[in-house]
Amino acid sequence: MEASSAATVSAGPGPGPSPADLLRRLRARGAADPVTHVERVPARVGVPAPWPPWASAELRAAFTQRGVVAPWQHQAEAANLAYEGEHVVVATGTASGKSLAYQLPALATLLSDPRATVLYLAPTKALAADQLRAVAALGLEGVRPACYDGDTPRAEREWIRRHSRFVLTNPDMLHHGILPGHAQWSGFLRRLAYVVIDECHTYRGVFGSHVAHVLRRLRRQCARFGATPVFVLASATSGDPATAAGRLTGLPVTAVTEDASPRGGVTFALWEPPLLPPDSSTSSSVPAQTTGGHDGTTDLIQVRRSALRETADLLADTVAEGVRTLAFVRSRKGAEVVAASARRSLDDAVPGLGDRVAAYRGGYLREERRELERALLHGDLLGLASTNALELGVDLVGLDAVLICGYPGTRASLWQQAGRAGRSGQEALAVLVARDDPLDTYLVHHPEAIFGAPVEATVLDPANPYVLAPQLACAAVEAPLTPADLALFGDGAKEAVDELVAAGALRQRPTGWYWRHRERPEVDLRGEGGAPVCVVESSTGRLLGTVDGGSSHFLLHPGAIYLHQGVSYVVDDLDLADGCALVHTEEPDWSTHARDVTDLSVVSVRSYVDAGPVGMFLGEVDVTSQVVSYQRRRIATGEVIDTRPLDLPTRELRTVAVWFTLSPQSLARAGVQSADVPGALHAAEHAAIGLLPLMATCDRWDIGGLSTAVHPDTEAPTVFVYDGHPGGAGFAERAYGTASSWLRATRDAIAECGCETGCPSCVQSPKCGNGNSPLSKPDAIRVLDVVLANLPA
Ligand SMILES: [Zn+2]
Ligand SMILES: [Zn+2]
Repeated sequence: MEASSAATVSAGPGPGPSPADLLRRLRARGAADPVTHVERVPARVGVPAPWPPWASAELRAAFTQRGVVAPWQHQAEAANLAYEGEHVVVATGTASGKSLAYQLPALATLLSDPRATVLYLAPTKALAADQLRAVAALGLEGVRPACYDGDTPRAEREWIRRHSRFVLTNPDMLHHGILPGHAQWSGFLRRLAYVVIDECHTYRGVFGSHVAHVLRRLRRQCARFGATPVFVLASATSGDPATAAGRLTGLPVTAVTEDASPRGGVTFALWEPPLLPPDSSTSSSVPAQTTGGHDGTTDLIQVRRSALRETADLLADTVAEGVRTLAFVRSRKGAEVVAASARRSLDDAVPGLGDRVAAYRGGYLREERRELERALLHGDLLGLASTNALELGVDLVGLDAVLICGYPGTRASLWQQAGRAGRSGQEALAVLVARDDPLDTYLVHHPEAIFGAPVEATVLDPANPYVLAPQLACAAVEAPLTPADLALFGDGAKEAVDELVAAGALRQRPTGWYWRHRERPEVDLRGEGGAPVCVVESSTGRLLGTVDGGSSHFLLHPGAIYLHQGVSYVVDDLDLADGCALVHTEEPDWSTHARDVTDLSVVSVRSYVDAGPVGMFLGEVDVTSQVVSYQRRRIATGEVIDTRPLDLPTRELRTVAVWFTLSPQSLARAGVQSADVPGALHAAEHAAIGLLPLMATCDRWDIGGLSTAVHPDTEAPTVFVYDGHPGGAGFAERAYGTASSWLRATRDAIAECGCETGCPSCVQSPKCGNGNSPLSKPDAIRVLDVVLANLPA
């Protein structure tokens, strides 16, 4: 299937400059050297292993025909463990062949036991469809793999339930379709030998906590039918994958983490865009965040050249060198800005050269994606700017250079994106371009936090009562709950059941707890914070999508820009009573940024550390917040157009927070004047929120904060950092558990920032409700020094 345009374009690029040469040329462009660190990630030789003895000749032949000569060591190790009946998680890098680790034991079992079945779960339908193609291509008799999801025609469903032995689905379908219909699935579940959970690192936060209980419900149904399937999980490289997988499944899980697949060497540069002269702050910068996200920003002065501009220039330069380059940009709009800007500079240099750069947007059809892959592979296309939609399920490896515009939030994602660089055995270049924020700035000055640290742990909290109670209700509908089930669902299950009884949802009988209502409870795994709000196009009445209740005030206030599948809409009206926002298509040249104000009270303390003048706490809090205004900013320059007031009701959030207190005396001794205490705490709070993603897989939009010189509940100067999800998502808990390293990194990030009075790279926050005032950078360092001096490491 060759596209006709290929004939008119020159053949693919020959060997370009070496990564070291290329980097030398890139960094020689400006006056100051923007590179803060260069890491050589050495090439790795693959370590093959023999086929497991239990893999039949037929199975080996099927894989050999698909180009697998022998498994790599990690694949064989994980496969052997799973085949012996141990629950296992394989957590290795991009393109390390994790699928063979579960396909081998699962398919070997299906071939040797004609009754056995396998259930495969992927986070997206597209990924399940890719996996279906891979399994079907092996052509093994009697396996009859099939996808079972929302798109599966009714007519085929019964056939799949009866005859397929390898069912591919997603957690939502398991929750909404398979478990409630367990009677129809009894034949399948009774014979279930393996449950495969692919890309399991995506099950984090509140969504991950829901999925954890869906899996417990699955285990419960299997047990009723006498089955105890083995769980095989595949994860991107992540910190402590055994613990995360154990929390997800509720089972003891063994981790295989030693990646034995071969890899080309990568020259990895950390790149900090130069500071702009003070007076040019509004003339040539692009906002780092151009989605209509939660960032209710204020009068930030952009002190560094924007990461988008810098990435666009680097993309143009590498393409001009004939180097196949992929640029990762966080927002869709940002990817378009990078591609357009690179195209313009290339066309200025050589008319027509700009055509070899394109933008990739999520939502492309499979054929369109394949065409892009083909064009890049053949060299018709040399540069591609993409959102991280390309992280999952697209086969794009073998690039010469990868540009990462802004830290993608986790080291796991960083390595996944960088892993796109390097075609068979050849050296490649990866560049992380820092955005103007505390985390990015910290990382480019602390390469050990990237290259010397394990990737972060996937955080989830199955004990969240806001997840546990509705999940127990779902379980009770599927079969009455028994005391034995309480242990399965873990900490807090008894309390949650008692509350469901008190609320009249469950009735206790001698044989267990029964669901009392006719209809099933409505529980959305991905929805959080209230009923979702529907987004409707006024002119057509078409439903575009939904936004969870918790985010709706930020994302769907009147005047907000709402992006959907690459199309821009403007919100005309947000009807909270009907749970509906009316929008029309419009593509203005500004972005919108909502601002909120917050109040907080302590409900209970779960755990604390008494460290003399310093206290560190974990507990429940009630947060009251109100979105009060939004700002419009020019997309191209970041210039603030105006701030407009909003009239939205306040909202309550019961959640989990970590907080620390300091005695006023200790602050005075450290040299913080009492008038500067509010600015000191506020600055420390902002930076601490910015650095928390270093410890846990969250981003700063998942968490909120509040600081005050005297809080009525603590009666002391206090900084609160809380989970932005009802009941908590595990982030504050993680912050509490890693408090001294978290605050140490926060302190260093502030101290090492080159600015004088605070900037977006250290203590300013893009979502501050107080317009980033007051802020005192030097006093924030003193505050954190007091905490660190007293807190046990
Ligand atoms: Zn700064
Ligand atoms: Zn603030």
